[in-house]
Amino acid sequence: MNVILFGPPGVGKGTQGEKLAAQMSMSHLAMGDILRAAVRNGTDAGLKAKTFMDAGKLVPDEVVVAMIEDRIAEDEAKGFLLDGFPRNVAQAVALDEMLTRHGLNVDHVVFMDAPEKNLLDRLCGRLICRACGFGFHRQYSPPQKSGICDRCGGELYQREDDREEVIAHRLEVYREQTRPLLGYYHEKEGFSKLDASGETAAVYAALKQVVEIQHG
Ligand code: AMP
Repeated sequence: MNVILFGPPGVGKGTQGEKLAAQMSMSHLAMGDILRAAVRNGTDAGLKAKTFMDAGKLVPDEVVVAMIEDRIAEDEAKGFLLDGFPRNVAQAVALDEMLTRHGLNVDHVVFMDAPEKNLLDRLCGRLICRACGFGFHRQYSPPQKSGICDRCGGELYQREDDREEVIAHRLEVYREQTRPLLGYYHEKEGFSKLDASGETAAVYAALKQVVEIQHG
């Protein structure tokens, strides 16, 4: 099974995507994580991406499209869940072309949404583990020991682009470039909308239902 999750920053794509991919034994291809790994490893693509990411802007399409194609090709047998790709209509078109070339289909496109107040609350309080990438929240899901990851003992940090001034810009980029994907996907087979304003467990139950019901 292949799935696309899209929606605004902070809506919970990463958290929900990780859970669903693990349960369905799909590869979780999170574009932001792939880019952050490239930055850490100092690859050419990572060097190109970093300034865009720190400013809350989209990394150029040719960079992300090439990176995701490599990963899709590696993981096509297992099935994949795309989180954070595509992020504009040009990327969606490139993805469709790529899938056709590889003889693949997308079974579900899920649009997750929540009011902007929830998104701001979630993003401003978010803490990420440097070692394993797991996410916490200062208020809603704090780690047992301050600054330390419960899962692996790694150091927790606030993402450079989770500062308030960058968040405002990311939300603007979302409204202008990513939200129009709704027009691209809403009439396609397998499209659904999910209210992601509730707690993690409730949103996950709803997401699973969408995927399972449609899957029969
Ligand atoms: P995320 O972890 O999904 O919030 O992504 C973090 C940052 O990575 C974004 O603000 C962009 O700078 C960059 N990014 C992630 N996905 C894409 C994409 N599909 N296209 C362009 N830039 C992206």
